[in-house]
Amino acid sequence: MFISVIIPCYNEEEVINETNHRLVSVIEHLTPQFELIYVDDGSHDQTPHLLRKLQQADPRVHAILLSRNFGHQMAVTAGLDHAAGDAIVLIDADLQDPPEVIEEMVYQWSQGYHVAYGVRTERTGETIFKRWTAKVFYRLINCLSDVQIPLDTGDFRLMDRQVVEALKIMPERDRFLRGMVSWVGFRQVAIPYQRSPRLAGVSKYSLWKMIRFATDGILSFSLVPLRMTIWTGIFTFGFSLIGIVYALVLRLFTSIWVPGWTLLFISVLFIGGIQLVFLGVIGEYIGRIYRENKQRPLYLVRERLGFEKKITES
Ligand code: UDP
Ligand code: MG
Repeated sequence: MFISVIIPCYNEEEVINETNHRLVSVIEHLTPQFELIYVDDGSHDQTPHLLRKLQQADPRVHAILLSRNFGHQMAVTAGLDHAAGDAIVLIDADLQDPPEVIEEMVYQWSQGYHVAYGVRTERTGETIFKRWTAKVFYRLINCLSDVQIPLDTGDFRLMDRQVVEALKIMPERDRFLRGMVSWVGFRQVAIPYQRSPRLAGVSKYSLWKMIRFATDGILSFSLVPLRMTIWTGIFTFGFSLIGIVYALVLRLFTSIWVPGWTLLFISVLFIGGIQLVFLGVIGEYIGRIYRENKQRPLYLVRERLGFEKKITES
């Protein structure tokens, strides 16, 4: 049983040594055969340097240095492409997800489950704003999307080789891994755990990154925003039919008609507004089609540390 652990790192110099220490002691206890794959996502701090030192000190540590910041999901993707394990674990570098939970995940895996995902029962040390937005997001995406993503899960999970092979043949650019893992199916089991505060440093997910991540999650798994266009169109059209009949009746059968610019004004604004909104929605999808079409690589590797054989990137 060979276990790979993937740890994406973006400016994590304050935590990386402690994280490595905790991970090694937990996994060593489970199996003698494992690898830790750190993916440096274009950090500006000492992270790459620290990873180099960790790798030199311990051959079970591997590191992939990306050529720039590609974002958390791409960093994880790079790790998945390089992982050799029978089971692959994803975990954040900041120890918010306790490594001890991996033991339970491995147990479930040995019982025949293909995916064991962590569900956060409690999030201590995170702002109310973050907890609230995360809560709304997971509920919104499940209302809108075609695949059900388990509530309050992150990327902290164990996946069987089969699942990872399935993910590797899903080449989409807008990667929302937890949605993709739900989509592939297989036997999945939830493992509740408490999410602790960050060990050190600040969250690398800015508000802007969170919004982008949420949009990716919704748009890449749902056609509902596009379908809403049709329903709103039908609704507005029905509404305007009533208006038209009303105007005609007034004009033809009564003498109280006045130049009704109020109605005209409001309806023009209303229709114009709705059209702009949905042009935006359509534009967003077209932009995504455009991006997929370019077929660019998902990430670029600057250096690989500790991998003997050359691996081609996707
Ligand atoms: N991360 C990354 N690239 C990024 C942002 C984050 O590789 O552009 C990594 C980060 O180093 C951490 C994990 O993704 O290991 C989760 O990030 P963070 O803890 O900052 O997010 P939060 O827990 O606040 O959602
Ligand atoms: Mg974190």
